[in-house]
Amino acid sequence: MTLQRIAVLGATGSIGRSTLDVVARHPDRFRVVALTAHRNVEALLAAAREHRPRYLAIADESAAPALARAVRAASLACEVLSGASAVAQVAAAPEIDTVMAAIVGGAGLESSLAAARAGKKILLANKEALVMAGPIFMEAVTRHGASLLPIDSEHNAVFQCLPPHSPGRLAANGVRRVLLTGSGGPFRARARDELARVTPDEACRHPTWNMGRKISVDSATMMNKALEIIEAHWLFGVPAERIEVVVHPQSVIHSMVEYADGSVIAQLGNPDMRTPIAQALAHPERIEAGVASLDLARIGTLTFEAPDFERFPALACAYRVLASGGTAPAIFSAANEVAVDAFLAGRLSFLGITGVIDHALQRVAARPAHALEDILEADRAARAFARDAANNFGARAA
Ligand code: NAD
Ligand code: MG
Repeated sequence: MTLQRIAVLGATGSIGRSTLDVVARHPDRFRVVALTAHRNVEALLAAAREHRPRYLAIADESAAPALARAVRAASLACEVLSGASAVAQVAAAPEIDTVMAAIVGGAGLESSLAAARAGKKILLANKEALVMAGPIFMEAVTRHGASLLPIDSEHNAVFQCLPPHSPGRLAANGVRRVLLTGSGGPFRARARDELARVTPDEACRHPTWNMGRKISVDSATMMNKALEIIEAHWLFGVPAERIEVVVHPQSVIHSMVEYADGSVIAQLGNPDMRTPIAQALAHPERIEAGVASLDLARIGTLTFEAPDFERFPALACAYRVLASGGTAPAIFSAANEVAVDAFLAGRLSFLGITGVIDHALQRVAARPAHALEDILEADRAARAFARDAANNFGARAA
């Protein structure tokens, strides 16, 4: 067994911490070589004490002096780097085999892409990068011989339900549909007019998963499932009309693949991100992840329902955005990030989130995306537009 040398980008987040938990169970298999964070010095230092990486990168330059002091005080032999470009540099470092891309949002695009261009094994949690720059990202993976393993539980499930090596050859493999499951989020059963008043804390109280705040809000608007439709399209080369969403409140079936003969293959498990993380880390082997056995007798019932496209307009939006192509997915994702930030800061109502996204899609023109610069420009334009739009919507508007 060769030792996998790992960089965890976004090491202080929910996925980053779950990754380090799995890694720590297998010191014979994995060595942590680099850890990165946005600006939380204390949390990054705690992870560094435990995992003793060679590199620590902090994206926010202003936090770097405090990190360097803390590293010295703790007598750690880590090299401290700072700035967004340092995070990307670490992702491409020659001493690293595997990159866990677990930064949230468009801030992860540069480093996720750097890992692809350096031909790494990429464990992709940072779905926004793929949504924004799907064709460019996938082309970089192929061209540079990187391998891409999905961490998002649905996509990891689909990956496990597909025959090996099937991306791009789905029709030949008899794949009829990809069925993405979603819990429906905390507001699955709320009427639309009740949604106008929900608070950030309510939106972040997910019924089955414990996650970072941005993805928790995305789950409440179903924007998360919308991003996942686009993510599945790029990852597996499935046409949009063959991707469907089914609401499954228990979050036990993580997704399914249906074949031409009518067979449906599902992947099941407790809702714990350490399962997809361990699957991707060890692939094609299987390792202990610290996850309890699935107790189906206790769970008793698995239920399914069709998603409500009226109450959760983000879903239909995802299909429109895919049909528009070019920079439209980047605009979609960037506007959402700005709107979610505004909602979490109490400056925008919950329903205002999809309102802002809608406006941005109408007003920021989508263009062909030939190069990364086209994506970055669309991202900047969408963010600027969405900031204005969020101010105009206000905290109580719907
Ligand atoms: P989180 O907010 O808990 O953690 C985010 C991490 O990114 C932190 O380490 C933070 O320091 C880092 N970060 C934030 N802004 C940054 C910046 N500007 N530059 C550099 N680093 C920055 O988020 P999370 O819930 O762990 O989600 C991470 C990614 O994984 C997201 O793309 C999310 O959609 C995806 N994902 C998460 C889960 C989950 O269970 N949490 C499940 C599926 C997919
Ligand atoms: Mg998911």
